[in-house]
Order: sequence, then structure tokens, then C-alpha cells
Amino acid sequence: MCTETAYTLRCEHVVTRTLYCSDAPPPSRQSRKERRTCNRVIRNAVPWPPPPQFGTQATCPLTNCPFEERGGYWNCCWCGKEWNDQGRCSCVMIIDRQEYRCGHICCETCEAATEA
Ligand SMILES: [Zn+2]
Ligand SMILES: [Zn+2]
Ligand SMILES: [Zn+2]
Ligand SMILES: [Zn+2]
Repeated sequence: MCTETAYTLRCEHVVTRTLYCSDAPPPSRQSRKERRTCNRVIRNAVPWPPPPQFGTQATCPLTNCPFEERGGYWNCCWCGKEWNDQGRCSCVMIIDRQEYRCGHICCETCEAATEA
């Protein structure tokens, strides 16, 4: 059976890698569509950071990933937290003794973190 693994990258985007088994139909030359898997597929989800057996995942395949464009360090446009080094803002605010996570994902409006 085939294995589809969805990796969450540091930027919070997800890439899917597929391992095909011998039951999967061969890739067609005519169509540029993605090769199909067989009918029995195992789907895995690997959160960030990936466990060692998955190796370090490459950088984001999206050409306009805001996180990668900012070199991996950015200031949150929602809460103002500086020097985030993951795709999701790690800021925790405490309001009325409740914890709120900002959770903003680096967007076009966020600025790259720069040394003052
Ligand atoms: Zn298969
Ligand atoms: Zn990305
Ligand atoms: Zn934030
Ligand atoms: Zn933003």
C-alpha cells in the first residue's frame, strides 16, 4: 500500500510526500496530474518539528511563503511580538487570568525582524 505523509513545516504550511507501492498505477506521461495511489493508502501527519526518522524537512515549496521571504524571523502584525522564529506567532497574552495565544500565522503584512 502507498503512504501519504503530510509534513507541517516550520512556517505552518503543509507539504505532502507520497510513497507509491507496486500496486499504484504508473505515472501517466499524458497528464500532468499527480500520480494516483492504490486503493489502500496510509495517511500520516507529521507535526513540526518532525521526529528524527523523518529527517529535517526542506524549506517551504511555496514561492511566496511570507515566512521564508522574511528569512524565518518576523514581527507579528497582530500583537507586535518581535523575532518569531516559527510560522505561527508564539505570543501568549494573559487577559483576566486567561491565557490567549496570538496564533497569527506570518502574513504579507508582518515585517521581517531586523536588528535595531
Ligand atoms: Zn499502494
Ligand atoms: Zn511556507
Ligand atoms: Zn502575534
Ligand atoms: Zn501578519
